Amino acid sequence: MSGSAASGWRVRLPATRAEAEAIPFADDAFPDREPPPTLLTDESDPSRPDDWTLDAYFAEEPGTDDIARLYALVPAAAPGSAIVEPVADTDWVTLSQSGFPPVRAGRFVVHTAAHADAVRASDIGIAIEAGLAFGTGQHFTTHGCLAALDGLARTHQFARAADLGTGTGVLAIAIARRWPRATVVGSDIDPVATWVARANLAANGVRSGRGRGAIDLVTAAGVAHPRLRGPFDLVTANILAGPLVAMAGPVAATLAPGGILVLAGLLTSQARRVAAAYTARGFKLVDLLAHGEWPTLVLRRGP
Ligand code: SAH
Repeated sequence: MSGSAASGWRVRLPATRAEAEAIPFADDAFPDREPPPTLLTDESDPSRPDDWTLDAYFAEEPGTDDIARLYALVPAAAPGSAIVEPVADTDWVTLSQSGFPPVRAGRFVVHTAAHADAVRASDIGIAIEAGLAFGTGQHFTTHGCLAALDGLARTHQFARAADLGTGTGVLAIAIARRWPRATVVGSDIDPVATWVARANLAANGVRSGRGRGAIDLVTAAGVAHPRLRGPFDLVTANILAGPLVAMAGPVAATLAPGGILVLAGLLTSQARRVAAAYTARGFKLVDLLAHGEWPTLVLRRGP
């Protein structure tokens, strides 16, 4: 490996906190880029809470189109503020292999292979590589869902669960580990996600397929798959407000009476509208975990 050769490029732009929190998935922001860049946001300086940084890592030198798209994500950035530079092999490898610090939510600890030592004896460790699919536990929404599952574990037993929009499979794995006798279906609209999730199941020693303790991965939009017919006693869906409202009817129908639905991917300003789509279908909002601008809703289907 040549230490000095650039193996990637980084574009750094200033962002406000609100912009950083609203950055879309890289696949959506760069639909024509294969692979899309890795987008990371960070607080530049904790003493200035509104000053964030957006870093976009590209495998190849970004073009003017790519940079224009990044500016569109952070409209408050002054023209000319983008810093484009090649990043050396070492930086790139560090970023992809150990860049993400472990994230804790109750007993769950989501970590990369490089941080396996963060898992204590009483923890439930979930190994996820920072890769193509969304869901490293870094995002507030993933964290909120894990915290909701951790809370539910104290009071509930589940036998049949589904995780819609499974991404890396992180929530499906959390469910399988916490309720090991349950059957779990993990689905995603994106075949790359189900492929990545399958690799993550293997990394966590969870069986892929049907049956108790295993996760059945399917590629499907919403609940449009025979394996997603239900009835489930637990459904998680960390997607986005728009699809969660649009799919409310079919998603609601997959829950058994008394079943629990955990929803995330919505902003605080969208919580009322998303909750209303489900309360109109016989659900009760039983918990709302506030986490930054990204709340997690816990709803229970009526009898
Ligand atoms: N569950 C993971 C990933 C959430 S990201 C976590 O909590 O971290 C949202 C995922 O939903 C993405 O992988 C995306 O491909 C998927 N998705 C988006 N719209 C969808 C839809 N209509 N049906 C199923 N999956 C969808």
